[in-house]
Amino acid sequence: MIEYENLKAANQGLSGELLAAVKRVIESGWYILGQEVQAFEQEFAHALQVGHCIGVANGLDALTLSFKALELPAGAEVLVASNTYIATILAIVHAGLTPVLVEPDLATYNMDPRQLRPVLTRRTAAICVTHLYGKPCRMDLICAFATEHGLHVVEDCAQSHGARLKDKATGTFGIAGCFSFYPTKNLGALGDAGTIVTNDKSFADRLRHWRNYGSKVKYVNTYAGYNSRLDEMQAAILRVKLAHLEAITTHKRRLATMYFNLLPRELVLPARQVDELDVFHIFAVRHARRDALRGWLLDQGVKTEVHYPIPPHRQEAMKGILSGDYPIAEQIHSSILSLPISFATSEQDVQSVCETIRQFPGLGD
Ligand SMILES: *Cc1c(COP(=O)(O)O)cnc(C)c1O
Repeated sequence: MIEYENLKAANQGLSGELLAAVKRVIESGWYILGQEVQAFEQEFAHALQVGHCIGVANGLDALTLSFKALELPAGAEVLVASNTYIATILAIVHAGLTPVLVEPDLATYNMDPRQLRPVLTRRTAAICVTHLYGKPCRMDLICAFATEHGLHVVEDCAQSHGARLKDKATGTFGIAGCFSFYPTKNLGALGDAGTIVTNDKSFADRLRHWRNYGSKVKYVNTYAGYNSRLDEMQAAILRVKLAHLEAITTHKRRLATMYFNLLPRELVLPARQVDELDVFHIFAVRHARRDALRGWLLDQGVKTEVHYPIPPHRQEAMKGILSGDYPIAEQIHSSILSLPISFATSEQDVQSVCETIRQFPGLGD
């Protein structure tokens, strides 16, 4: 059986370092907002070449707190891709703002800059991009549009740790870069964790309060804040993982190159652009008979995933919040398939996956 993901195997090589980090935290006697969080925040900011980093409890909170700290008028509109993961949209809703869906580019699965102007209104206050599957969005075009219209840019980087456009890290283009360190992400904790990066000092200060009950001074509350703190244990674990992020990215990019070389042309492969560093959190292909292909692969011992089976506007939770038709999102959701590309996936695995796909009887349909 070729697994889609195997976290035990992915983390096995680091177990000595991880145990030492956990031991260090246990023995420190300090478990919330201490030296490990501070050190991780500095190391992550340095890795991305960004001014400030604020550790929080998870990726959804990183997004929600960012929207809160922007202090936009209630109901202000945020432009967001119609094929993003639901968390991006939930954050906008939880912050009291209005999500407005923008169709992606069918070639890249990322927000299509050409679709922004038609949905712009007087109430538009921000654009929230998702660097989906680890591929950077066209921030050159999106930021130019945002500047022209006075809009904030928030980046959902939950899938794009280390991804770059024109050698600039995703998360550093807009006011806020929001990261998740959910265990399966390219940079994964051993539990829930997230962070926000920013170059805006006063925005960073507000976020530090928002994550800690809205409190600047202990027992003095400035905002009706949250409890969303990155804990010392996960921060210590993330410091170990961060030192290996480049090796993880290199491994995934090597597997991606093999897929590009070995997969049959009957599949639609990810787009590649020379000025983009794609970190392939997910290797997504498309095929008209996706479900049949997926079932057949499983029968042959290859596990795959679908990111995602139901577009946000079709989710029951979004009734009364999202409306309209999004044919490109529908097309992606009905044909997309994620192939194994974990740190625990071997080159041999990728070879087998590609050979198996070549034998799929419905390949040319
Ligand atoms: C994983 C993910 C999130 C949410 O992160 P959590 O840490 O699970 O809250 C948000 N957006 C995208 C695109 C994601 O993939």
